[in-house]
Amino acid sequence: MTPIQALGYVGLEVSDLDKWSQFAADLLGLQPVPRADGAVDLRMDAYATRLRLTQGTEDDIDYVGWEVRDAGALALLKTRLVHHGVRVSEGTAADAANRYVTGLICFDDPEGLRSEAYFGPLQRTDDPFVSSRGVSFKTGRGGLGHVVLVTKDMAAQEAFYTDILGFRVSDYIHTEVVPGKPLDLTFMRCNARHHSIALAHLPLKKKLQHLMIEVRSVDDVGRALYRCMDAGQHISLTLGRHSNDDMLSFYPLSPSGFDIEYGWAGLEVDDDTWHVLRHDTNSAWGHRYQRPPRPAKSEEGASSPVMALSKERQSAG
Ligand code: FE
Repeated sequence: MTPIQALGYVGLEVSDLDKWSQFAADLLGLQPVPRADGAVDLRMDAYATRLRLTQGTEDDIDYVGWEVRDAGALALLKTRLVHHGVRVSEGTAADAANRYVTGLICFDDPEGLRSEAYFGPLQRTDDPFVSSRGVSFKTGRGGLGHVVLVTKDMAAQEAFYTDILGFRVSDYIHTEVVPGKPLDLTFMRCNARHHSIALAHLPLKKKLQHLMIEVRSVDDVGRALYRCMDAGQHISLTLGRHSNDDMLSFYPLSPSGFDIEYGWAGLEVDDDTWHVLRHDTNSAWGHRYQRPPRPAKSEEGASSPVMALSKERQSAG
């Protein structure tokens, strides 16, 4: 059993903070809260922060925050990591304050993603979350959504997340979206949400393939889709329903070049009756890949994950 309860927060390093804040607020319906240090927190519920945008050149995931129940669970997780030879550092009081949590530890996953585990996240009940688009996000015990990580060594990553962090595999997708180019995905959960993390074997430089956030109404998916279309925001995958977690979703391309999955009605797993499944397709219907617009002449030749994806035709679940 994992001491990890949920995907609590995610840090993103972005090159265009203003464009990202606008994308998050106007199209996704998140609430940007600028910080004194120049970063921007994106709220989606009572938590003080769920996503944090920091200025940088990577345009990729910076860190991931896993929530545990309490100080005892955090100590247990630390012991477990150390026992398996993982280097763990204790977060300072300043680190905890920075993340709006009560205590945290820091470690890297086998492919170098900065990972944090924490307890006691600050709740801003006196300053309720307000979406300028009237969106209500599904978070709670299921956490903020899911991340899909570009993975080189699927077996090593799966072993780390299951054997050490205690995630359970929900299912696998082995598909071939381009003939002769297999795409392997592994989906893992730490709560009722079908997956909080998935691994995707893709030839991309970025660590993050996509980040999923879930809304409480199908109308919120429809409205967001049309906001994106009206704004000319590129949509990497059209509206569709996934084969494994039943998520009805579409994938707008973020200003950082990775996708956001904007979904509704994701499957909740009953641990007592669930068994691991295997799928040979990503989607029951839809999720048609759309090539991004051609870059301007000056940008041609620049390393873009999107261009790599257009060759591989991404459609990770
Ligand atoms: Fe997804």
